[in-house]
Amino acid sequence: MLASGGGAGARGAAAAAAAAAARAGLGGAGARGPAVGRPAARGPVASAGGRRGRAAAADKGEGGAVGEGAGDGSAASLELPEPTHVNIKTAEYVGSAASLAGCPRATFPEFALIGRSNVGKSSLINMLCGQRALAKVAKTPGKTQTINHFLVNRSWFLVDLPGYGYARRSKAQREEFFQFSSEYFLERETLANALLLVDSSVPPQDIDLQMVDWLVDSEVPFSLVFTKSDKRKKKCPRNEENVAAFEGILEARFGILPPSVLTSAAKGGGKRELLWLIGGLRARWEQFEGAD
Ligand code: GDP
Repeated sequence: MLASGGGAGARGAAAAAAAAAARAGLGGAGARGPAVGRPAARGPVASAGGRRGRAAAADKGEGGAVGEGAGDGSAASLELPEPTHVNIKTAEYVGSAASLAGCPRATFPEFALIGRSNVGKSSLINMLCGQRALAKVAKTPGKTQTINHFLVNRSWFLVDLPGYGYARRSKAQREEFFQFSSEYFLERETLANALLLVDSSVPPQDIDLQMVDWLVDSEVPFSLVFTKSDKRKKKCPRNEENVAAFEGILEARFGILPPSVLTSAAKGGGKRELLWLIGGLRARWEQFEGAD
């Protein structure tokens, strides 16, 4: 487990964590190729970005870009190439696999969505693809866990992985998730980026933070997608405070932040920004693949 700061020993661990974070693509070049960084300055992400922009967007329950890289801007030096095709024109369900071996041939770049059950994964897939029930077709009855592939614009995949359960059963659920999903994350050659969905209507949850630790330790490049920006929970802090708290923990732990977008599947918020981010990551993945 990575240290969260404080004390001399913790400083050493924090430095190690920062190095692992850089390898995982938190604002630096990912060791596995596709780095994550701030989307290109001319994109809607940059124009809607910044802490003030985010707060305003969250206030309206709309969502938008929140990723800025490290607080001092230094980690944001890596910019993603400008994406050429951002909009989703076609999206089709390809199939569900019970293991990596059953997944479609690894040809196109893919973006794997992970998050707690009920975080809004299916709703986000449907919102992004502009289809009401696309993600539903992949939902298997019972407890069967599957890796579900959706082919977008016939050129990239959105991948839906099992949710990792509620916080109250975090440990067992986390283990179950890892047993099933780690092969995919560690071995899928065409994984361009993991999109970690985090519910913005609740304060930071341990299980989500543990997932970040695991992604960093495993050097899996990832971005944060905060969901449900329109949802207000009475006894919880406001959404933008929850987002700031989550990012604050990451910043303290790793000294650096992945890109992030605040979304609302219910209101369509953050759609453009997220598609822009995915487009930039895809363009970068293609550059990297082309250089092989
Ligand atoms: P999954 O288990 O992660 O696939 O989550 P679902 O997409 O099935 O959503 C779980 C619940 O959260 C459902 O009741 C959705 O209607 C609700 N939900 C999902 N996204 C949003 C959102 O953006 N805003 C609000 N208010 N509710 C949402």
